[in-house]
Formats: sequence, C-alpha cells, structure tokens
Amino acid sequence: MKKSIKTNVVGFPRIGKARELKKAEEAYWNGKITGDELLSVARSIRLENWKLQANAGISLVPSNDFSLYDQVLDQTVAVGAIPERYHALRDNQLELYFAMAHGVQRDGNDIIAMEMTKWFDTNYHYIVPEFVKNQSFKLSDTKAADEYREAKAAGIETKPVVIGPVSFLLLGKEKESGFSRLDLIDRLLPVFIEQLKSLENAGAEWVQIDEPCLVLDLDEKAKSLYQKVYGEVRRQTGLKIVLTTYFGALRDNAALALSLPTDAIHIDFVRGAEDFISVLDIFPAGKILSLGIVDGRNIWKNDFEQSLKLIDAAVARLGADRVWVAASASFLHVPYDLDLERDEKRLPAEIKRWLAFARQKVDELVTLSVLAVDRTNACLQAAYQQNRADIAARKSSALIHNAKVAERTANTSESDYNRESAYTVRSQKQQARLNLPLFPTTTIGSFPQTTEVRSWRARFRKGELSAQEYNQLLKDETARAVRWQEEAGLDVLVHGEFERNDMVEYFGEQLDGFVFTQNGWVQSYGSRCVKPPIIFGDVSRPTPMTIDWITFAQSLTEKPMKGMLTGPVTILQWSFVRNDQPRSETTKQIALAIRDEVTDLERAGIKVIQIDEPAIREGLPLRKSDWADYLNWAVKAFRLASSGVSDETQIHTHMCYSEFNDIIEHIAQMDADVITIECSRSQMELLNVFGSFSYPNGIGPGVYDIHSARVPSVDEIVGLMRKAQTNIPAERLWVNPDCGLKTRGWAETKASIANMIAAARQLRNEKK
Ligand code: GLN
Ligand code: ZN
Repeated sequence: MKKSIKTNVVGFPRIGKARELKKAEEAYWNGKITGDELLSVARSIRLENWKLQANAGISLVPSNDFSLYDQVLDQTVAVGAIPERYHALRDNQLELYFAMAHGVQRDGNDIIAMEMTKWFDTNYHYIVPEFVKNQSFKLSDTKAADEYREAKAAGIETKPVVIGPVSFLLLGKEKESGFSRLDLIDRLLPVFIEQLKSLENAGAEWVQIDEPCLVLDLDEKAKSLYQKVYGEVRRQTGLKIVLTTYFGALRDNAALALSLPTDAIHIDFVRGAEDFISVLDIFPAGKILSLGIVDGRNIWKNDFEQSLKLIDAAVARLGADRVWVAASASFLHVPYDLDLERDEKRLPAEIKRWLAFARQKVDELVTLSVLAVDRTNACLQAAYQQNRADIAARKSSALIHNAKVAERTANTSESDYNRESAYTVRSQKQQARLNLPLFPTTTIGSFPQTTEVRSWRARFRKGELSAQEYNQLLKDETARAVRWQEEAGLDVLVHGEFERNDMVEYFGEQLDGFVFTQNGWVQSYGSRCVKPPIIFGDVSRPTPMTIDWITFAQSLTEKPMKGMLTGPVTILQWSFVRNDQPRSETTKQIALAIRDEVTDLERAGIKVIQIDEPAIREGLPLRKSDWADYLNWAVKAFRLASSGVSDETQIHTHMCYSEFNDIIEHIAQMDADVITIECSRSQMELLNVFGSFSYPNGIGPGVYDIHSARVPSVDEIVGLMRKAQTNIPAERLWVNPDCGLKTRGWAETKASIANMIAAARQLRNEKK
C-alpha cells in the first residue's frame, strides 16, 4: 500500500451555503417556524458539511464544530454553567439557549443576554462564560456525542471538537469578586472528563480539544493548569487527543504544549510560521504533528510549492505517519464556496483564480497530502500545475501592482505625519472659525437606516429605481435630517450616512485594489453574517468618494457639517487582506487614499472632518510584545490620513470600544482634535484613564448607550457630564451619543438628542 498522509479539518462554516441557518433562526425567533423545523435545517447543514468533507477524502472530519449560535456558548451549556437568571427557562432548551445568547423580553420579564466579545483577533464574536464564586458544573447536554452519532449514522466517522477546560475558563469572566475563575478547575475537570467519556462510549477514536489560549501570554498558574488537566485526561480516558491551538505562534508556551500527554498537537503555521523550526527541533517522540498550513483565516489560494516544502521538512523529521496536513484554524472564518461567485463584473476571473474558500481549501488539503508522498501522481498533475500557474499569475499580475502607489508610499516624509501646529494652537484657530459654545453637541455620523431607506437601496440594486430616483430619495432624507438637526439645535451636524450600506464596504467599493463577493458570507455572531471586502492589490482613490454628499448637506445649513470617513486601520481590519505584503504597508496605502479625501473635503469648504477608527483597539496583536510595533504603524496611518489639512480644520475620530487603559498614550499620539468614545455603560469611569494620563485634546464621552432604545433623561446626562468634568476640563468636553444611530428608530433618536441638547444647555448655564 502506498504511504499516505492524513488530512485534518479543524472546523467548517456552519451557516450553510446559502445562509440557511441564519434564515431558519430568524424565522424561528419571529415565530414563523417551530423549534423542530429549525433543528431539522441544522441537521441538514451538518450532514451536507460532513458529506462534502468525507467525499473530498478528508481523514479527520470534525463534528460538534456546528453550533446554533456559538461554540463557546455550547460548551457553557454542556457543562451546566448556566447563569442563575436563566434558570426559569430551563424546561425549554432552545429558548434557554437563545435567551443566554441574546436576552429575552417576555411576560414582563426582561432577562439580559450574556456578554459577547471578539474571538481572539478575528471578527467572530463569542458568548463570554460567566462564573460565580460557588460555581458548580454538571454535564447538562449530550450535543457532542449526539452529533458524533448523527454523523456515524450517515456512515461518516468524525472527530468531535470540544473547547478545552483551560481556555474555557480563561475566556470567561468572574461575575463577583473574591475568587479566581481558574480555581474552578477542580469542579470543572470531572465534568469535562465525563463529557469526553460520553464521546468514548459513543465510539469516537479521536477528539479535538481546542486550547487556543496556548498562543497567548500565560501566567504560571494557567501553565500549571494545562499540566494538571491533560495529565488527568490521559489518565482517565482512552481517547486519542489532538490538542489544538490556532491564531498564533506558541513561542514560550511551545515546550509546555508539546510536553502535554496528548497523541497529537495541532499548530497554526500560517500565523505561527516563526515556530516551525523550533517546534520540529523539540518535537517529542511518538506524537503526531497536525501541520496547520492551509489558511483558515484568509481567502488566498494555497501556494502548494511552499506548503510541500514545510510538509517535506516535517515528514523528514517525523515520518509520514506522524504528520497530518491541516487547516491552520477553523474554516468558520472564510466563506463557504468560491464556486458560488459567478458575477464576473464583481469578481473578475483573473482574481478569482487566486482565491480559495472553505470548500476549495478542503480540496487543497487532500491534494497536498497526496502530492507530499507522490509528487508525480498522475491524477493530480493538472491540479498541481494549475496551482503553480495561479500563484505565479498572482505574483506578477498587473492588477496588483501600481507603480504610482508604490512610489507614493515609499516617499512619505516626516511632515506628512504632522499637523502644522500643536493642538493648543490649532484649537484656538478652530474655535475662532467655528465659534462653538461650551459643551458643543454633535452625533457620531449615521441616523436611522429605516426599513424604508434600506428598501430604496434594495430596489435600486434590483433595477427598480434609477440612479437618479434613488439619489433623489437619499437627498430628500438627508435634507430632512439636516433640517431636523438645525431645529433640534445641534452644534456640529452630520449628513446621516443614508447612502452607505456599511462603513467599510462603502469606501472599498470606490477604492482601487478592492473586490467584493456576492455570497462570501462569514459568521460574525449568531445569525449575523458579514461579507468582508477583499483587498487584492495596491490601494488608491481614483475619484472623490464623499464630497458630493457632504457638500450637498453643507449647502443646506450655516452650521458646520462634519465630513465622515472610515479610517485606514478599520478598513484593513474588516477586510480580507493581502498576504503578499505586510499589513502595515496595505494600511499605509489606504491611509494615503483617505488623506486625499480629507484634503478634498477641506478644499470643498468642510471645516470639521471625522475619521472613524472603531477597530484600532481590536487590532491589537494577541501577544503584548507585538503591541508596540502594531500601535506604531496604526497610529502613523491615522496621522498620515489626517495631517494633510490646515490648523483651522478640525479632525475628529471615533472609537466604540472601551478599555483604553493600556493604549491611552497611543490614542493621544493620534492627535485628533476631538475623540468621541463609548463611555456611558461604564458611567464615565473610562474617563479616569484619560484624566490620569492628562489626555491633552478634545473628548466627547458618549452620554448614552445607542444599543438600547431607552431615552436618557436630562438629569442623567447632566450627571454624567458633571462626572466627566472631574477628569477633563469643561473647555475640552463635547456632548454626544456613544456611537452612530443607524440601528435606532427616529422617535427615540429625536427624544434622546433633545434631552442631550437640553443637558448641554443646562451645563452651559451652570458655567455662566
Ligand atoms: N460614523 C459611523 C456611524 O455613525 C461610526 C460607526 C462605528 O463606530 N462603528 O455609523
Ligand atoms: Zn461607534
């Protein structure tokens, strides 16, 4: 028999190829289908996924990687860590589950959802486990074993996936003080082992235990837990375990991870390429290495030549039977199937041939595993040559490289990153020009995208509205928004962003170097999916992007109208990015394109320009030692985008994530004249860090939470702003909501803004 190498898939997209899960879930939530109907849609998605992988020839097909909402939430339910407030719902599993995910309002009950946060440095969000001091655990469902059996019944042997107990605890949060969640391990571990035993009893041979926290900075306590947990797992079960890490290099945790008594270890060598040599050097005898080389986080076609070199090196060291060819991470983070892209105009064939989505990546794994032991395999020669040709075509494509962009990025000079004068000088010049009252009021950019506004866009796309008709509707809506803002008495107005579908897509569509898919959906959280743009080449701005809308809005009022742009780091973070140049370089190109727009806005007479950077905080690398480098180029990109204007032009930025504690000096280095931030949920406590750091520029601490329909009272806002003044002098404070109002309705928006303005007036009077 021919030598062969096994293939390992870490996880597969679960929303279904036509977003069936999203649709079924939303129908279930709206009472249009039953729970059983939803579960049957879920079952068919799982079956289709398993069949696809098994038919392609994958050796280790995952099960229990499916989730109705989130895999961390699944594990929370499985080990019975269900917060007290949901206990009343316990007799209906599905309702309980979704209540934990997104809260429930029923029969006068209002149970808030569990917190949601970003899954490592991806744009996927998980539901954060909550722990209390006397937390107990109890095996509470059989999902993992059920799904294993379900696949088995369909004739497919799978490798169940569960989240390991150390990462599970680390990813959670203490809900009361006086204990450390890591101390709960003694109570959690027996339940976890019971869960593993249920898989063993169901007949599973291999189990994938995800411990992605092994790529993070770990303290001694966490490290010792790993030893304890995996020692026990080995002692108490007969399963074969593939300890699975992803999203980064193991670095200083490599020796620990490799020493744990598991049969195999999976390592992400796309993001953790730096570890490759050192891992092979110290790789323990007998252990299998799952070589994560097909990118689970990005959409580029695998470079077979490159991958085969890595496989060869691993095989030379370990032997073919101890190497698996694997995805770097779960394919959850890439779209389902490139074959669904059939619109040449959106995605030209020349670019499409450089890409691979989940389905194509499954085939890549199998092809690589065969070529690794049989380079001249007759059936695969065509595919092999095609891959070489595609990779070469991408490298030399005229679509990617733009000499003008290269020249411009290479030749930026110090002065391009600096405003003419320091903030204190600028702010006086700006004030002389804008003549704003104390505590100026403004909003963050968008106004309600009502069903009506969205229906115009849909009809325009379908060709039911002409461009002229569509634009006229948007103009009327913008004009109404401007008029209302004037009447309400806001000081710095916005145009409302009615013409924008999404704050990244809107710009990407107008920039060179971007393409868009038709069906490239990726799960963001629960039933929410996003379709990230693909940055394939050098970025530049062929023509102005926002000038018409902003100047139109400005023409309707004497008050300053804010130009509204998305910043370079946010555009980068929310797109699929090139892997043929550093992220910093791509960001610099985007920054220059935005800079062009900023200077054009100034030239068109716009006096205030906001450059949103909500993603700058979330872009922080997983390891602290990498932060400085990232922050350096991220801040420089913002400065490059914003520094082309004169002192008199006021630059705003906006961020919606809190926790600025450890990056406040970099936020200050961005040197925006005004920063608007989310602050209301922490009752202005966030401002402590701005205060103790002596943040030098203007700040608009969000005075109410736009994620809720609640209308804040005047007193409440006045109270928050008084609190803000304990940290920031009144002269530098603005009054605004904490984010854009796109998801809100007009009624609550008008009421909230009216109270906000009344509060600002009261504060001004107090100062007189
Ligand atoms: N200007 C954007 C808006 O108001 C900002 C959105 C965001 O911060 N995510 O919608
Ligand atoms: Zn925001």
